[in-house]
Amino acid sequence: VLALSGVRKEFGDHVVLDSIDLTVNQGDVVALIGASGSGKSTLLRCINLLEQLDDGQMWLSGDDISDPRVNVDTVRARIGVVFQQFNLFPHLSVLRNITLADTEVFGTPKAKAEATAMRLLERVGLADKAKAFPDRLSGGQQQRVALVRAIATNPEVLLLDEITSALDPELVGEVLDLVRTLKEDGTTIVMATHEMDFAKDVSDQVVFLDQGVICEQGSPQQIFESPTKDRTKEFLHRFN
Ligand code: ATP
Ligand code: MG
Repeated sequence: VLALSGVRKEFGDHVVLDSIDLTVNQGDVVALIGASGSGKSTLLRCINLLEQLDDGQMWLSGDDISDPRVNVDTVRARIGVVFQQFNLFPHLSVLRNITLADTEVFGTPKAKAEATAMRLLERVGLADKAKAFPDRLSGGQQQRVALVRAIATNPEVLLLDEITSALDPELVGEVLDLVRTLKEDGTTIVMATHEMDFAKDVSDQVVFLDQGVICEQGSPQQIFESPTKDRTKEFLHRFN
């Protein structure tokens, strides 16, 4: 679904990502782990075309999305994104937050978009919040709505950047449970996370970024049970 080859990103003379090769298969969950500043968010921002590459290529379902002539909006419409900070529109109801892209970007009739949104809200147990405004919801509920909004248009890949790190600990579980459900539904996910137990539990592939390069990647068993690189061992040691 998603392939990266030789991706490089610099800010001034600071190389933030270098020689990133990554293949994400349909239905896979890929966990990006690594210390603060290792480049996880920048990598997700590159995939979503929020940053321009300094080198390398990226393909989404076979289309070269790193081609400078690509239509950025068209590519973004194929990618779902949820960030750490709740990014629901505060002046729109939960329902409208979810249907907005569907009606405005894809031209789906309002009634159809609302039916989809209600079905998704029911699945995540938030149907009774459809008419509420975001500030009436807990942080965990807001992130679940943000996830529903991100998948409402059937994106080819879902990018999640530390979606639980701004939440109170007791709200983290309900958001992670929803991510687990999305995986079971077959959603392809690339997520930056500091939740090592969750990454171990839910991902098919773990990528350890160290100062902008992929230091080690493999199955969760491989990375968490028998890492081969000293940097990986050092990093994981902090979570034990
Ligand atoms: P965290 O775990 O804290 O979220 P991260 O792995 O997501 O960290 P990034 O946010 O990708 O790390 O940052 C990687 C590096 O790029 C950092 O050194 C950061 O300071 C730098 N950086 C990120 N965005 C910019 C920018 N717009 N301009 C200059 N430097 C930037
Ligand atoms: Mg980050």
